[in-house]
Amino acid sequence: MSSYLSASWIYPVTSAPLKNGVIAISDDGSISAVFTAEEAKRHNLSPITYYEGMLVPGFINTHCHLELSHLAGKIPMHTGLPGFVQQVMQQRAATPTEIEKAMRNADEEMYTNGIVATGDISNQPVSRKSKLDSKLYYHTFVEAMGFDPGRASAIIQQAIATRNDFSPLKATIVPHAPYSVSPELFKEINASSGRADECITIHNQETAEENAFFESKSGHFLKLYAYLGLDISFFKGGGKTSLQTYLPFLSTLPRTLLVHNTFTSREDVSFAENIHPHLFWCLCPNANLYIENRLPDLMLLREMGVKITLGTDSLASNHQLSILAEMKTLQEYFKLSFEELLGWATLNGAEFLGLENQFGSLETGKKPGINLIEFMGNGMLNNNTRIKRLF
Ligand SMILES: [Zn+2]
Repeated sequence: MSSYLSASWIYPVTSAPLKNGVIAISDDGSISAVFTAEEAKRHNLSPITYYEGMLVPGFINTHCHLELSHLAGKIPMHTGLPGFVQQVMQQRAATPTEIEKAMRNADEEMYTNGIVATGDISNQPVSRKSKLDSKLYYHTFVEAMGFDPGRASAIIQQAIATRNDFSPLKATIVPHAPYSVSPELFKEINASSGRADECITIHNQETAEENAFFESKSGHFLKLYAYLGLDISFFKGGGKTSLQTYLPFLSTLPRTLLVHNTFTSREDVSFAENIHPHLFWCLCPNANLYIENRLPDLMLLREMGVKITLGTDSLASNHQLSILAEMKTLQEYFKLSFEELLGWATLNGAEFLGLENQFGSLETGKKPGINLIEFMGNGMLNNNTRIKRLF
């Protein structure tokens, strides 16, 4: 027995939008067929529930930090990244109850906002229970972090223990950011997660200071290391940008998500795409505006034909966890079609996480979640555009 859903428009993502199309849903929630309006009439399908608006697949949030949810509203805007990192370290402490409650609310918020799967950065196993209880699919990325080469093996042992603590949830060890991982630690991470069936992430070029640090060992990161009490006299600036310095250290086998890319140049993109065949470029525009008050060069990324995904980052640097809100911001600042944005918000993220057989498009056999997008004027997202999760 199937139930039938129809709307002004259906956006399957993998094929052209269908005006007044119909989706047939089996009892187990999977899609059993997608019909054009004519086909639906011919098959005499009924009863059909009709919605004003657009039906789209569930969203994929490729970058979040659930464990920072309790920092909502605590960190001022526009501090710049090094200042932000310092603030997170100073303000992170809270009671286990506060942390747990904030994570569960954030998870529920993502569900309501039509998100079906999340790639979530974790430094500790604190989010395990809320992820196990969640209606969302989570892929946890356990961050290894440490710029001191002498500590690489101790750090990887700790990361392996944290990853194992997440069992039976899917978890992978990943590098935190270029400025917090030594070449020795990259090697350890490759040994753990550098296979073709894996996916990994790294924060990339979120601030101009990151490039300055690698190019000439200058800028605000020096202050951050001083604050951390870390002697970095072993490190020399190598005249190359951050991405061009560290990417050769990473295994080129796993699908690899570069997160933020706010200060990534044309030379960086072509360098990276030349040496790595499985790159995905994650944009978190609302977090970028929150921390650095600047957006990545999206027109450049589009022109270079790279695979783009979307992420919310955490509530420490965002007012909400909503992929639709990220899409609205991108449409406000750049001229983009809804269809193009939708591909980034759904199928590309599903491909990165290796979930494209279940999520990312409205196709027979998938169980992708179904969202209704209401109140779009002439095909553009606007302030009144709302999302309603149907499945
Ligand atoms: Zn992040």
